Amino acid sequence: MTSAGVDSKEGVCVLGATGSIGQNTLDVVARHPGRYNLHSVSAHTDWKQLLEICRHHKPKYAVLSDERLASEAESAFKASSLTTTLLTGSNALNFIAEHEDSPIVMAAIVGAAGLNSALAAAKAGKKLLLANKESLVLSGRLFMQAVAESGARLLPIDSEHNAIFQCLPEGYSCGQKPGTSVSKLLLTASGGPFRGFSKQRLSVVTPNEACTHPNWSMGKKISVDSASLMNKGLELIEACWLFSLQPSDIDVVVHPQSIVHSMVRYKDGSVLAQMGQPDMRTPIAYGLAWPERIDAGVKELDFYDMASLDFARPDNEAFPCLELARTAFVEGGFAPAYLNAANEVAVEAFLKGNIRFTAIPDIIARCIADAPSREPETIAQVLEADSEARQIAKASLPRFYKTNC
Ligand code: NAD
Ligand code: MG
Repeated sequence: MTSAGVDSKEGVCVLGATGSIGQNTLDVVARHPGRYNLHSVSAHTDWKQLLEICRHHKPKYAVLSDERLASEAESAFKASSLTTTLLTGSNALNFIAEHEDSPIVMAAIVGAAGLNSALAAAKAGKKLLLANKESLVLSGRLFMQAVAESGARLLPIDSEHNAIFQCLPEGYSCGQKPGTSVSKLLLTASGGPFRGFSKQRLSVVTPNEACTHPNWSMGKKISVDSASLMNKGLELIEACWLFSLQPSDIDVVVHPQSIVHSMVRYKDGSVLAQMGQPDMRTPIAYGLAWPERIDAGVKELDFYDMASLDFARPDNEAFPCLELARTAFVEGGFAPAYLNAANEVAVEAFLKGNIRFTAIPDIIARCIADAPSREPETIAQVLEADSEARQIAKASLPRFYKTNC
């Protein structure tokens, strides 16, 4: 029940509603009007799309986090006959993430920018659907502490982690160790659009090619991460925090069809896999309705139509990012935060056409060498390290500019 005491539907807050995960979440929520009430949404710059979302879904609050566009957006919202209240600036993200009328929060902002609001939802004890993997990479220990202290229910939305969560023993909660019956987690990776490419071939790939994922339709940053295998590196770190494990407890398995979304190996020889279409609405619906299951609008898997399911080892030589992430987690301290920041800077430079694809791991490796080894004690320290690492990575960019290669 809401504070008004009149609506028995569950309120949902979607942080990053204009993105790929955000749009899929709105789709699933809209399929269940008797069950969910879209309470609040956010976008960073695209106020036109935000306005469209509000026209269609009629949330109580909409946040435009980029303050520079506030006056344009405010005029447009005023001119519309909508009852949605528009708030602007990044502090408003925390307001909707913590709001008592939205017990469910989808954290789907991309990058380190998603940390504060995801953490606010965790501290407020929400049912937190976490898509923003960067929060855990940056500040896994502090984030998981906040979840444990508030009693928030953390549900992983990243398809692999959602699959593992579905395959773990009944009653398992994120943050706990999986128990002695589990011997390994098997994290699947599609291998991205450049699977099988040599280093030489990788040096001439374009941003457009990198953003054309063979199975998934996603935002640009995560598409490039998938192509470089950094996405799997970030996911390895994410899995270590979510499931309270070490990288040695997790094997990465390349599975190009993206049908098996990940697996859990048990001591008795069983391997449990979660399968489904490569459609993010499945993990989103699972998170929304957990522990129940609801219609997600996803096409059924047709086993008669499936040619084969293939599995292989990752190529760590051509794609060094996965190992960089593994090393950063084992080193600890601020190394994962430096890894994430340098990756965001390098991916942006690659998308702008300034550096080669193969420069991405080189920029990251240089940057993490400078990471302080002490453990972060506060989120303020993590955010400071994030901006220091961005400066270091940006300063190193010119030597990787294409003209200098
Ligand atoms: P996207 O680029 O499509 O959307 C990002 C959203 O974040 C947008 O709504 C944008 O307005 C908002 N945003 C961007 N910069 C912001 C800032 N500085 N401050 C506040 N808001 C900002 O991204 P996506 O593909 O939907 O991914 C979102 C998150 O989910 C990422 O962390 C990604 O790793 C994770 N994820 C995505 C997928 C997928 O299939 N797309 C799968 C698993 C995990
Ligand atoms: Mg994933």
